[in-house]
Amino acid sequence: MVRHRRGVQCAPVNDPEEAVRRPITLLIVSLLALCASFAQAQDNPGQYAIPIPERWERPVVTDEDGLQQWADLEEYSKKQENRDRLRCPTCKGTGKQACPFCWRMEHHEECPECHTGHDADEDDKVTKCRTCAGEGTIPDILQKAPCPGCAGAGITRCHVCGGEGSYTTAAANGRRSKCPVCRGPGSFPCGVCKGDKLVEPPKMKPSVGEAELEDLKEAQEELVQIAAKVATIASEGDARKDSKKWSDALKKGAKLFPPMRPLLKDLEDNTKDLGKGSIFTQYKEMVTNHTNERKAAVEYYIKHQQRLLELCIARAEHNAKVRGDDGGK
Ligand SMILES: [Zn+2]
Ligand SMILES: [Zn+2]
Ligand SMILES: [Zn+2]
Ligand SMILES: [Zn+2]
Repeated sequence: MVRHRRGVQCAPVNDPEEAVRRPITLLIVSLLALCASFAQAQDNPGQYAIPIPERWERPVVTDEDGLQQWADLEEYSKKQENRDRLRCPTCKGTGKQACPFCWRMEHHEECPECHTGHDADEDDKVTKCRTCAGEGTIPDILQKAPCPGCAGAGITRCHVCGGEGSYTTAAANGRRSKCPVCRGPGSFPCGVCKGDKLVEPPKMKPSVGEAELEDLKEAQEELVQIAAKVATIASEGDARKDSKKWSDALKKGAKLFPPMRPLLKDLEDNTKDLGKGSIFTQYKEMVTNHTNERKAAVEYYIKHQQRLLELCIARAEHNAKVRGDDGGK
């Protein structure tokens, strides 16, 4: 059986007051859709909270000229209430989370994310937080973005074995064979973040936070176009065709958004790997699961980068207005 992830599902914040109070609101990501029907989000490592990208914030301070400057986060964090604001909502500051990768896997010898076997105690199946990469605080949106390759897992799932590393068939009578595609680990190293979980921000001069308003708006427009193309990607269960769709959607953006180049290469490599699973009857489903899982990670990254540009544009517009007003006097 092949399990797959589903993208963003719902926001668990029920109390509107709470949503206002907290700068980062949460989103539950459902990783193992097949299991979602009989497990509560809270008890289910397959679902975990991540910040809603549209509500991501970045503190600013107003200088003596009335201009907004990005706050120094170290300085900002000296106040307890600000520290609370920056605390990672996924791990609540601990830097760790219940392993979402091996949840409900039953045969793996060693999970590639938390490095425990299927027979390990549930409490030991703990891994570095995918949202903050183990730091306990929300990564600075000006500096870091969630990896569009792996969504913070540091690895991508092998969809031929579903991450188990082995498989069985009816004819094998329960006897398991090593997965011919990943050859055991159940995953592939993420070729985008190389295990760092986070990636670099857009390449802009002098930096995305200090870029000219015009350049920011251009970048925003480009991202809108990329998002529209990615939204149309629907797998037909043909790895080669899916690979072509990715290339059409992402190629142009690679100059401004550096992670897109290694992302395309990673998707291409994975397509080749998946091709080795074409002997299986569920091959089409495997390809579709792979594409859907990858699409969820890419879309989350895009939304995050859209929010980043939105924040940078708001600040640049504010400052242009202040400078304009001053100049007019
Ligand atoms: Zn965290
Ligand atoms: Zn695990
Ligand atoms: Zn495999
Ligand atoms: Zn990655």
